[in-house]
Amino acid sequence: MGASVGRRFRFLVAVAAAALLLTATAADAKAQCVPGAPGVGDGDYPTYGNGGYDVRHYNLDVEYDPATDRLDGEASIKATATQTLCSFNLDLVGLEVTRVKVNGRRASWTRSGQELTVTPMRPLKEGRRFKVKIVYGGVPREFILPGTDIRTGFMATPDGANVLGQPEVAAGWYPVNDHPIDKASYSFDVSVPDGYEVVANGILRDRDRHAGWTTWEWEAREPMASYLATIAIGYWDVHRWRTDSGIPVYDAVDSAITGALRAEIDSSLARQGEILDLLIDAFGPYPFSTVGAIVDNQDDLFFALETQTRPVYSRGFWLDGEGNPVNGDSVVVHELAHQWFGDDVALARWQDIWLNEGFATYAEWLWEEYEGRGTPQQTFQASYDEIPADDPFWAVVIGDPGVDLLFDDAVYVRGAMTLHALRNAVGDESFWATVRGWAATKSGGNATTEEFIAYAEEVSGQRLDELFDTWLYTPRKPAPSAVSPAGRAKLRTARARARAKTRLGQLQRRLAVGRY
Ligand SMILES: [Zn+2]
Repeated sequence: MGASVGRRFRFLVAVAAAALLLTATAADAKAQCVPGAPGVGDGDYPTYGNGGYDVRHYNLDVEYDPATDRLDGEASIKATATQTLCSFNLDLVGLEVTRVKVNGRRASWTRSGQELTVTPMRPLKEGRRFKVKIVYGGVPREFILPGTDIRTGFMATPDGANVLGQPEVAAGWYPVNDHPIDKASYSFDVSVPDGYEVVANGILRDRDRHAGWTTWEWEAREPMASYLATIAIGYWDVHRWRTDSGIPVYDAVDSAITGALRAEIDSSLARQGEILDLLIDAFGPYPFSTVGAIVDNQDDLFFALETQTRPVYSRGFWLDGEGNPVNGDSVVVHELAHQWFGDDVALARWQDIWLNEGFATYAEWLWEEYEGRGTPQQTFQASYDEIPADDPFWAVVIGDPGVDLLFDDAVYVRGAMTLHALRNAVGDESFWATVRGWAATKSGGNATTEEFIAYAEEVSGQRLDELFDTWLYTPRKPAPSAVSPAGRAKLRTARARARAKTRLGQLQRRLAVGRY
């Protein structure tokens, strides 16, 4: 018996010591832990994104009832702490939070503006993975596209909802580290009343019916910036097919769009394989496992967005100023080009937006050439000649345009002109090696303008700071010498010039209806 008591005593001492040790460890962790930053430090959007952790995956289990416009969700987020965190922030605008768990335990939270600050029961150690579950709901709010009065975000439509916006959209419908710097994979389980259909990014995994509702399970495996996540709820004509090069396509066009307009839209979407082949030739392999389009019958949608693997298009791109159906192929070229530049190679900060829009616009110039409507040099020269030196267009510093001018025409057109000026300066071989190498090197990640300039200098072996200073950071029309470097000026026929001018007119008309 004595021996037994002794053992028991030693055991109790050991337990007490272990408890002391645990307390000390918890106290140490608390002493060393820090709150995660409420923003990632973006100059244009200081409160966007959050510091101290890195998200790997979002599972968004949401239910949306078009009759009430109410969204109820449970977001499960898998992340890794990059600091030892006492608390961390997510971005969420407008919706009410009812429960938060971290690693299966209840956590406390506070709200302030778009910041949802979560304090777990125990600090999260640097380098450790953790899971957050947030139950939330309400009527999602909309945003306004910077510098415009165009509504964006989670938008209710007559037959469901449409979700797209840039840079503000994600925090309006799910708790998120809302900055492109923190890419993650996504799964969406979207429940809607029977009859409605849901399209999202990636691949449709399953549909599950239960008590008058259907859950649509979509999976987007490839890392994605938060603003590129979309769900579209409505009545869709779905077309599943494969491009000649074997990429699976999932197109969804609102079944209320019919007649000549529908014929134009279908004709553009049928060319996605051909467009992708052209872009693959120019930029390198298509970066994702699926592709497709969403075209809603929404009167007040005035833009298109490169939502990853499945761009959303306003039907307005297939209508002229008088409301007559017209060819809209080039907006499809633009959004598909963004799959490389914008999506696969995403921004590290919003001020570098020209890296997205310049490449997407340049792709349109390549398409013009493919369609026999003028070479990129002709489109470039026409744009340069057409816009007088005192036009406000040239005053936009596209390398850092600021929030209100983030989607200014100049970011698009001067962005493409910058790339063409680079092409003229380094020659075709070096230019295409730069473009393809850049897409490959940065695939799946984020990039800055400085990195692009350094990469172009490395590939070409030339100093290019003056060229980029002139085109990106000088609020003036570049001198003709910056347009046609000595020995490279090309004579153009009057006919080609006229064609290029028509092309610019089309571009300007479209920019007047919306952004993309
Ligand atoms: Zn764009």
